[in-house]
Amino acid sequence: MSDNDILSYGRVSEDKNLDITLRPKRFCDFIGQELVKKNLRIYIEASKRRGDVLDHILFSGPQGLGKTTLSQIIANEINFDIKATSGPVLVKPGDLAGILTNLKQGDILFVDEIHRLNTTIEEYLYSAMEDYSIDILIDQGPNARSVKIKLPHFTLIGSTTREGLLTPSFRARFGVLEKLDFYSWVELQEIAMKSAKILEIEIDESSAETIAKSSRGTPRIVNRFIRRIRDVAQVKGCDKITEDIVEVGLKMLGVDKNGLGQMDRKILQAIIQHGGGGPVGLKTVAVSVNEQEDTIEEVYEPFLIQKGYLSKTPRGRIATQLAHKYMNNDALIGKQSTLF
Ligand code: ADP
Repeated sequence: MSDNDILSYGRVSEDKNLDITLRPKRFCDFIGQELVKKNLRIYIEASKRRGDVLDHILFSGPQGLGKTTLSQIIANEINFDIKATSGPVLVKPGDLAGILTNLKQGDILFVDEIHRLNTTIEEYLYSAMEDYSIDILIDQGPNARSVKIKLPHFTLIGSTTREGLLTPSFRARFGVLEKLDFYSWVELQEIAMKSAKILEIEIDESSAETIAKSSRGTPRIVNRFIRRIRDVAQVKGCDKITEDIVEVGLKMLGVDKNGLGQMDRKILQAIIQHGGGGPVGLKTVAVSVNEQEDTIEEVYEPFLIQKGYLSKTPRGRIATQLAHKYMNNDALIGKQSTLF
């Protein structure tokens, strides 16, 4: 979502404001995802040289890895406006037509959660993406007629946490497909140091390392932790984030040294308790932990799978040896932390 769109909601929470402050504006400030950045720079440069509009781009990957941020950076680099919307918001063809007809040549249309577009809108987008025109049905019944509206050449940037849910024909209409992956702790440490600097609080390297290692490979989580740990430091009257303060802060957040939180532990526990380690179906897990299936799949599972705690099979989820070991030992520390 664009900074302007966030602001246009009127009442903006402090965290949202800080999120905007911490969001990198240029490629040089965007840490990590080196290959993605390198590719994007080439595509931008080539389109500038041809005097052409940038090809449509699809970003995929778990939440909080920088898909929206990169889209904003692209708009800044090519010096065009970006209009942001999201899949579930576009319900009627008129919603889409309203946005498309307000674009100017070269502008970017950013669609968050693009896998949640309904099929009618998706089909309207096909001609908008390929021919830069849409056929809109005017009136109903015997007077109904279709009117072709020409659109300016624009770039569609789609963002998705579930690339697999996109139809192959939709996916094929994007000229650039870039996958974002979890960040290394070294990259996250750099992000933590940078964010602390922007928030005007001192932090030492080892504290930034601890925060980085607890942040599930995700910059958004690093920034959230930095903000909460800064609160702890300020309440304690400290002007610096130190290891002691990080420890208290992470405990308050229910996060252990592996970066796993309460919900991760609940999920692993549900699989171990209800299915002796699995396989357990997603529905059963969702009911056991009282969370939406989508949220489990999009928010919690990618990290648990990447770290080797969980595996997905056609018959359901399986808790790995590592998960059993973790739940027997480390999770006890995590359990204590929920008391804070
Ligand atoms: P997504 O769209 O993938 O869910 P966002 O682009 O909204 O993720 O990123 C979430 C937050 O994380 C942003 O506000 C930004 O401050 C921060 N962030 C993301 N990627 C980076 C990065 N590579 N370097 C620094 N900060 C980042």
